[in-house]
Amino acid sequence: MYSEDLSPLRRGTDNKYWYEFADDCEFEKLLTIGWLDSNHSFPVGPIDNALVKKLRDLICCIPKGINVHVARIRGQHPCNLCKAYPKIRCKIGGMRHLGCTELRIPSREQKIVFTSPDMILHYIEEHSYLPPDEFLEALRNFDTSQPFNAVELGKKLIKRSE
Ligand SMILES: [Zn+2]
Repeated sequence: MYSEDLSPLRRGTDNKYWYEFADDCEFEKLLTIGWLDSNHSFPVGPIDNALVKKLRDLICCIPKGINVHVARIRGQHPCNLCKAYPKIRCKIGGMRHLGCTELRIPSREQKIVFTSPDMILHYIEEHSYLPPDEFLEALRNFDTSQPFNAVELGKKLIKRSE
């Protein structure tokens, strides 16, 4: 599934509906980041190592009390660009396959939650993908000392359609 960066997450036949957060939620929008494919060009460039490490730790479920994963599938999607089935080494829990979940990264300041395939780490590390500043800022400011559960937050999403 391709989605332009910073556009609402769309689903359904003909992408008929999208999601927003309920009025009582601290977040407003759910926007896509890193839904790449080989038919669309994407920005490339270097990213601060510390940020890449933070993303990698979040994917590896570090620190405890933080879960950014939703929509785990039973199998594994290959990379849309090189068709590899990448895996990463986590400090805890050994190897972890990418292409299995969606990540939700919050930005409290921007009232946005960014949704990405977990493959985004591979896109960054192997294909030099450069996500938009808004996303990098959210990652930088993500306070991992506060509990966060993307699955619980997902319950506050409402489906909208034209
Ligand atoms: Zn690849």
